[in-house]
Amino acid sequence: MLESPVQYDFDFAIAGGGPAGCSAAISLAQRGHSVVLFERETFPRFHIGESLLSTANDAFDALGVTERMEAACFPDKWGARLFTHDGRSGRGVDFADVREVTRPKTYQVCREEFDRILMERARELGVDIREGYRVNGCSFAAEEAVLDFAAVGDGATGRVRVRALVDATGRNGLIARKFNLRTDEPLLANIAVFSHFRNVPRLPDDRPDDIRLVAREDAGWFWIIPISKELTSVGVVLPKNRYAQMAGGSSEELLQRAIGDTPVVAELMRDAQREWPVRVEKDFSYSASTYAGDRWILAGDAGSFLDPVFSTGVSIAMESGIEAAVELDRALKQNNFSARSFAAFSRRQRKRFKTFRRFVVGFYTPQFRDLFFDPNPPMLLFRAVITVLAGKWDSSLRTRFFNHIFFGLVALQKRFKMFGPAFRRDRDAGYP
Ligand SMILES: Cc1cc2nc3c(=O)[nH]c(=O)nc-3n(C[C@H](O)[C@H](O)[C@H](O)COP(=O)(O)OP(=O)(O)OC[C@H]3O[C@@H](n4cnc5c(N)ncnc54)[C@H](O)[C@@H]3O)c2cc1C
Repeated sequence: MLESPVQYDFDFAIAGGGPAGCSAAISLAQRGHSVVLFERETFPRFHIGESLLSTANDAFDALGVTERMEAACFPDKWGARLFTHDGRSGRGVDFADVREVTRPKTYQVCREEFDRILMERARELGVDIREGYRVNGCSFAAEEAVLDFAAVGDGATGRVRVRALVDATGRNGLIARKFNLRTDEPLLANIAVFSHFRNVPRLPDDRPDDIRLVAREDAGWFWIIPISKELTSVGVVLPKNRYAQMAGGSSEELLQRAIGDTPVVAELMRDAQREWPVRVEKDFSYSASTYAGDRWILAGDAGSFLDPVFSTGVSIAMESGIEAAVELDRALKQNNFSARSFAAFSRRQRKRFKTFRRFVVGFYTPQFRDLFFDPNPPMLLFRAVITVLAGKWDSSLRTRFFNHIFFGLVALQKRFKMFGPAFRRDRDAGYP
């Protein structure tokens, strides 16, 4: 390793202490580097994003938190149940059918607790964690990255010099905004309206806590995610134009209306009690023109995020945080933190994004839904679809081949209606 003349305060700095930031911090500390992490909030803090994928288990192993995750008693997730608005189907998506993941069972988590587990692990490995500190700016020179931060409480400011920065500030996108890297996804201009509830019945079988995904008759859909013994996260996602048609009154009223005109959800929510005011999130689907530059790297939502329909966010955030750490470790050994040296990292992030994007964009077409929610879909093809939806985006050639056929059938459904059309297709249904 070549030595630099600059006196660094730490090897690396991380902005943001969510799953991406903490995963990068843990992985860098595991490799023997000194790390400072700035998180503007003080944990525990609320965050949406509660249902994980099977591939999250690989991240837990790498981060050394597998036992802690098991001990935390989060509800088990073996897959999903798919319902149409009228309760038809209820067919299972079983991650145990997927041959390409290490362990199929995963979790649905209360993010306050989950994010705290990751942050504690980083602290235990010696990461200097500064909660309640916001990164206000950053600059990059040939030999260093410089971060300016301020305490959220009293406004006291400070500066650190490091070799490189991991931006894990989520949708806030510190660097993406600074360098204007973001492109919105016009086909995924959706709005989510959600809260946590008590008294929502669980599934009446041996996998009571699987996520329920309920397609509305229009282009919207509901998630129903058990996140603890008592609490269930319930939210509706609507395309912007459909949201505009349904808006009027408060978010509470809108959520109630959406529940009311989706019979299978209305039945489940009959005795539900809301835990806190309804929240609304929008403009959450975007990508970045690049995921790394000279002495900086983006991880998790700070780079890109896709609509929540297939619960990819947290699992990708951890995966990309670990990948960012591997890149920075290599860069330090070679003393080369140039954008060029990070090109393969950038390509990998983009490839993963595009793989999931195909499914997510597909979901917002009635033809994809006709196949996806069909009670008896072609099993070989469906297993290939589930393999990706369990998180295995870099799947085998065979799986990719069957997925191409699946999308071929979706395209044919447009003309030939081989599967019973189950969803509205009129303009007011809200499809992009
Ligand atoms: C409606 C909705 C539903 C979702 N459902 C799911 C789901 O079921 N499953 C799933 O896997 N994902 C889901 N997601 C996505 C998930 O929320 C995110 O993908 C995930 O949290 C990304 O992790 P992250 O670490 O990249 O960012 P975050 O978790 O957002 O963490 C970023 C952190 O950076 C901090 N920060 C921001 N700016 C600064 C700054 N300037 N200085 C210091 N700190 C800063 C923030 O306080 C935050 O703690 C959902 C998203 C939405 C919008």
